[in-house]
Amino acid sequence: MNNRRKTRSVRVGPVAIGGDAPVSIQSMTSTYTYDIDATVKQIHALAQAGCDIVRVAVPEPRDTEALKHILPQVPVPIVADVHFHFQRALEAVEAGVHKIRLNPGNIQDRGQVDRVIRACRERGIPIRVGVNEGGIVERKDKDKRAAEKASLESDYEQHMVDIMLEKLEEYIRIFDENDFHDVVISAKSIDPRIVIRAYQAISAKYDFPLHLGVTHAGPKETGCIRSVVALGTLLAEGIGDTVRISYASDPVYEVHDAKEMLNCLGLRARIEPELIACPTCGRIEIDLISLVQEVRTRLATIKTPVKVAVMGCVVNGPGEAEGADVAVFAGKGKGIIYVQGEQKRTVSEADMLDALYEESVEFARRVECGEATLRGGSVTIKPPDPLPRSDGSLPLPVVTR
Ligand code: SF4
Repeated sequence: MNNRRKTRSVRVGPVAIGGDAPVSIQSMTSTYTYDIDATVKQIHALAQAGCDIVRVAVPEPRDTEALKHILPQVPVPIVADVHFHFQRALEAVEAGVHKIRLNPGNIQDRGQVDRVIRACRERGIPIRVGVNEGGIVERKDKDKRAAEKASLESDYEQHMVDIMLEKLEEYIRIFDENDFHDVVISAKSIDPRIVIRAYQAISAKYDFPLHLGVTHAGPKETGCIRSVVALGTLLAEGIGDTVRISYASDPVYEVHDAKEMLNCLGLRARIEPELIACPTCGRIEIDLISLVQEVRTRLATIKTPVKVAVMGCVVNGPGEAEGADVAVFAGKGKGIIYVQGEQKRTVSEADMLDALYEESVEFARRVECGEATLRGGSVTIKPPDPLPRSDGSLPLPVVTR
């Protein structure tokens, strides 16, 4: 995809956001930041999974105090997430964080916001300014809230986008008045339609780099859909410079799914195996669902983007697995393994996992030392002879209409 919208570039430690930089992946720790060991451990797990930038919450002085011990121990830049207490931002800057996430709307005193901006400028640290749907609707003034709700009823999405933009404009004015432009913008909602419309509008108006996210997306199972619908749509339009998928689950899943989303959109080069598998149907004669999960776990140890296919039969499998570097076609009690279109061996169901893994490891080794090349979509697989069914009959080819 080469339709990325041009934004200005900011640096978060060694990672660039915006400009020509690739879309980066962010996540946030779920530990108490003052628990130094647990936080360092989780940051390492996130970095290992492919996270480029990690955010930590700093609600208390003991959290910013812990930053001094955490920062030297972690391999990725750290963002301090500040709400309400401008002092936490100043302490985090002093501790050496690489970016501050600030919502000027919940720091009441303008002078305090200015002090944070000055401190960030002195250290060359960018600030992410976020407007979250939940944080900008009126909560205290009942009359104002009623009027706001009434206005939202006719076209909730558009009115919400308007409120978000209005608020954002107010915040950006503060940064402009401070002549501070190392700003990243986010505008999050729980509703993917609002997220899409808000970022489209912001992108049309500003050239600040954009941090994409759906807030409070829920557990991984449903949050994944909610996030990818919004973020994937925007990224496909060329909007977005850094992403955070957020789940009420282990944050490592956020990174896995963000990576897969960027891989699928061609915005990040795949560095690990790609697994394709058939959805199974009435022709299946092995426990393919379990096999696929086991293959996925095993393949995680390989650091070469080998394309591996696990197919439930030799009837439609070869066509669907076209392009796979390593493939298995299963039948009753047996599987035929192919490497780049060449039939390698037939193994029993019990040996299928080990054999597929061995062939994948061996193929990855050959790629790494230049003896083989990843073939992308160009591998053609000639269908093997059908494996007999349990009653000895041969499966008939499926006619696809
Ligand atoms: S590959 Fe075979 S078993 Fe799997 S869905 Fe296709 S036809 Fe069914």
